[in-house]
Amino acid sequence: AEKEESQLHDIIHELSPLLWADANLRGQSIELMLAHNVPKLHLNAKEIKQVVLNLARNGMEAMTEKGVLTLETRMVDDRVELCVHDTGPGIPPVKQEKLFEPFYTTKAKGTGLGLSMCLSIVERHNGTITVESEEGHGTTFKVAFQR
Ligand code: ADP
Ligand code: MG
Repeated sequence: AEKEESQLHDIIHELSPLLWADANLRGQSIELMLAHNVPKLHLNAKEIKQVVLNLARNGMEAMTEKGVLTLETRMVDDRVELCVHDTGPGIPPVKQEKLFEPFYTTKAKGTGLGLSMCLSIVERHNGTITVESEEGHGTTFKVAFQR
């Protein structure tokens, strides 16, 4: 897979009409909180688009009407972090352990492949993907890349 110097924010902006259309249909909204000092990264833009889209769609699928999906970027030391936060029901700790396993799904028509694909893409970028979730307080998936 080819990687080139890419601005993560360009990828997010390219996706946003699609995300907004999805959110509108669901009566949900999207907030972008993009840091000003995010450097270009060595990325495969197509793959990273898939990651952002998968995380965003999972977040939307977890929320009811009036839910808010937030995409936030920030620099933490020499890492670029992308957080995808939803105001859904959260994920209990026992389930959190299984999320990245292929074919793990709790959805009637889910494939259970979204997060395992996200994990392999992020690992090919030498990045990390983690989940933080508290039941009743929503879920945040955090993707971090070394600059
Ligand atoms: P799928 O979306 O096809 O079920 P994924 O690999 O994308 O497969 O996600 C696996 C499972 O992880 C989902 O079925 C769901 O149970 C859980 N999950 C993922 N993202 C969230 C989220 N934001 N909130 C709650 N549960 C989630
Ligand atoms: Mg999914």
